[in-house]
Amino acid sequence: MSRINSGGVSTRNPFGPSWGSSVRTGKGEPASVGEQVQQNLFGKKKPPLVDSDDADIAAQMARLHAFRKRLARLAGDAEDDYDLVLAEGTIAMIDDKGLIYVGRRFLLDHMDHLDVLVGVLAHEIGHRPRRWNEYKAEAPRSKEEAEKLCRLEETRADYFAGKALAELKLQVEPLIAFLTAVQVQPHPEYFSAALRAEVLREGFTDGRRRANNRKKFFPELDRMRGAGGDLGTG
Ligand SMILES: [Zn+2]
Repeated sequence: MSRINSGGVSTRNPFGPSWGSSVRTGKGEPASVGEQVQQNLFGKKKPPLVDSDDADIAAQMARLHAFRKRLARLAGDAEDDYDLVLAEGTIAMIDDKGLIYVGRRFLLDHMDHLDVLVGVLAHEIGHRPRRWNEYKAEAPRSKEEAEKLCRLEETRADYFAGKALAELKLQVEPLIAFLTAVQVQPHPEYFSAALRAEVLREGFTDGRRRANNRKKFFPELDRMRGAGGDLGTG
């Protein structure tokens, strides 16, 4: 999709890990599975930051910050576990500290597509990079095993994105359409957009069922969540 690519977006999988080209940040070889996966998934070269001097962009970022907090809580994390910065040459990416780089072009192109913006944000938060510290003790695996783990991780993030969109009463199909549009070509190490669409829809169905059950059995709770976004804890 030339409109998106003209923004300098990587021609690789927009949300995927950068296989084999991770930046080692001077730490040398990974010492554990956690580090290994963190390097593959979140150790990418950081995109250059840009100022949000534009009023539209600033407003958009403020709106995304509100969703960042809600998504963090839905993921079971603290709001402050994540932050957002404006960047160039990316759609969105998250680093191992939970800092999310949001592409300026992507924001501008999707001003009116809240489902896509929040869906992409949800995918990044769904990675929950700090969680990988749990794997600190385990010895590194083979490259193939680590890659498999990373692919599973992508699936997990997609499932969460679908689920979160339903919980936030947004739609999943616009995100799937976006994902399909930016998929340049199938890559042997990525799952296809078609498979990711299935995962997203499954997560969405799960999220909608939860939301419906809550509405049915705990109407008070549902109203509170509706008014305040969500309860904030639990
Ligand atoms: Zn991802």
